[in-house]
This record gives sequence, C-alpha cells and structure tokens, in this order.
Amino acid sequence: MMKKCYKLFFYIIIAAVCSCTLGLCGYGKSFVAFATGENQTDSPPSVGYTIVIDPGHGGIDPGSIGYKTKTRESDLNLKISLMLADKLRAVGVRVIMTRTDDNALAEGTGKEFKKKDMQLRKEMIDRIRPNMVISVHMNSYTNHILRGAKVFYDKTSEISRKIAESIQSQFAQNLEASNNVASVGDYYMLKCTQSPSIIAECGFLSNARDEQLLLDPSYQEKIVNCIFVGVLNFLNIN
Ligand SMILES: [Zn+2]
Repeated sequence: MMKKCYKLFFYIIIAAVCSCTLGLCGYGKSFVAFATGENQTDSPPSVGYTIVIDPGHGGIDPGSIGYKTKTRESDLNLKISLMLADKLRAVGVRVIMTRTDDNALAEGTGKEFKKKDMQLRKEMIDRIRPNMVISVHMNSYTNHILRGAKVFYDKTSEISRKIAESIQSQFAQNLEASNNVASVGDYYMLKCTQSPSIIAECGFLSNARDEQLLLDPSYQEKIVNCIFVGVLNFLNIN
C-alpha cells in the first residue's frame, strides 16, 4: 500500500487511518446472526434501499483508544452507528448492522481472529447485497495534531466516490477541522464487496480536542446528521 503513496500528506492520512482500519489496535467474539441485526424487523422498507452499517471493531478488539480518556473506539463506533440506523430507518431505509452490541463477529484471538472477523463481515454483506455499506470508525495517529473527519472510498468504485464526497461535504460544512476532500483508501472493507462502500473516520481519538468533541452527545448527533444527510443527498431522498 505504501508504495502507492506519492505525497507526504497522503502518506500521513493513510498511515493514520491504517492504525485503526487495518486492525492494529486489538481484536473479538462469537457471530450470532440474529444478534447482528440480520433478522431485525423494524419498520418495513418504504424507499427501496438497503444499507449495511458496519460499526468497526468490537469484542476484544477495542480499536483506537482515546488519548486522554482511554475511550474505546469500538464503543463510539457502535453508538454513532446505532444513532445513524435509527435516523435512516425513520425515513424508510432498510438498515442492517454487522453488530448491534459490543461483541465482534468472530471468536478467538490474534491475527486469526481479525481475519475471521473481517471475513464474516464480508460474507454478511455478500448475503445482503445492500445498496451501500457504511463502515464507522474513529481515527488515530501518533502525531496528536491531526484532526477532523474523513471519508474513504475505493478508487475503482465511482459510486463509492460519490457517496464519500456527499458525506465529506457535510463533514466540511458542519464539523471542526474537516475539509471537503474525500480520500482514496486501500482497505479490506472497501474492496471486499461489489456493493458501494465507504469508511467514515469521524475524528481523531489521538487528538485531545477531537476526543473531547467525539465524547460530546451533541457533537455525536452532528456526526450522525452529516452521514445521514450525505446519504440522503446521494440517494436523492428529501
Ligand atoms: Zn477503527
């Protein structure tokens, strides 16, 4: 992946997201279909779209850890994802989550766990064949200066790019330290499925100000609204 990074800035951003997206920060637990939301029977679909929301990490894999508060990324990912699911369901989107509690999809430990956990997420998405996949993460990097929310997409998917840009536009308008540029990412969750997929890195848990904001319920609501409005704009739902 690194040899593709031609510019220092790009390198820094990719390195930052790698630290959580590629699973360098921990690892999970048993996969039970009904517990992951595949059998969720909330309001019936009325707008004809299915979206998989994938809260990153879970179980023994906490993801990134808050710089000041030691908050677990996996907990924030789940909270944001559940709030987003509620909003999307309220407008008639069928939402299925890869996990709805702290458990990961796989069991075991170490690299085998992470590999299995990612594989189970892929298999779930392949069964559902959603209109899009939204993976929710919080970023982290050794340089504590980095801030802001960033959406990643796979360079081979034009639809994914458009979804990412629609959400990134909302981040830029509503969140601190976020610009208008969605980024190409070379990540398993973006490449593992034919469904358009994006990764929303909602802020840096390694930055004190971002961490403070990410723990604030009103800021969490802002993040959710950004993703929600970005998705609706892309789907042309008003
Ligand atoms: Zn992560």
